[in-house]
Amino acid sequence: MALWHSRPYSAAMTTDAKHRLTDVCAEMAKAAKTAARDPADTALIAISKTQDADAIRPLIEVGQRLFGENRVQEAQGKWPDLIAETPDIELHLVGQLQSNKAEDALRLFDVIHSVDRASLIAALGKAQVKTGRHLRYFLQVNIGEEDQKGGCAATDVPDLLAAARAAGLDVVGLMAVPPADTEAAPYFALLGKIARDNGLTQLSMGMSGDFEAAIMLGATHVRIGTALFGAR
Ligand SMILES: *Cc1c(COP(=O)(O)O)cnc(C)c1O
Repeated sequence: MALWHSRPYSAAMTTDAKHRLTDVCAEMAKAAKTAARDPADTALIAISKTQDADAIRPLIEVGQRLFGENRVQEAQGKWPDLIAETPDIELHLVGQLQSNKAEDALRLFDVIHSVDRASLIAALGKAQVKTGRHLRYFLQVNIGEEDQKGGCAATDVPDLLAAARAAGLDVVGLMAVPPADTEAAPYFALLGKIARDNGLTQLSMGMSGDFEAAIMLGATHVRIGTALFGAR
């Protein structure tokens, strides 16, 4: 096998990625300034679901290091090679996780945003012991109380937090995806309140359509796909 390979992306793709990243960062900084927050207090997670490695590399090339995926299997197909190329990448799982994939998720990801039930907490606790890997976790809250959405009820947060800690999980904050087609800000404010009530400081909230509001309401992590990669 040859030790060289042609660059799989063009200079134009890199320029494009740089523009998109610069634009998103400028909008993030503006929102932070409006809320008198330090722009450095909100991390940008580039959500690369459905994007192949060649679409992701230009963003890595221009300095992006935090990435997010919503499916374990899809991530297993593209990230091991990308991480081998750029070891300081931090990979976040933002989609629903089945308990039987807990160990696979643990081996690949650094942070999991979708912890929402006792059975998953138990599986992750066991997988941590087995793999010797200890990640950071967000509890996902079904903030709009929607039937088909992942996340626990807001009232379940104290019990799940206690269970997660008892299982050895380092829970750093709360994550939510507000209902589509309604104003997100009230849900972001509510998530912030639930986090404060439970002594949690990190908030994973805000996507391409609503990240400015999320930052103004305290997001420490925004999860942005479309605005960085274009429409899926
Ligand atoms: C896809 C996805 C995002 C990114 O959404 P965009 O609207 O493309 O920015 C953020 N969070 C979760 C959980 C997602 O599944």
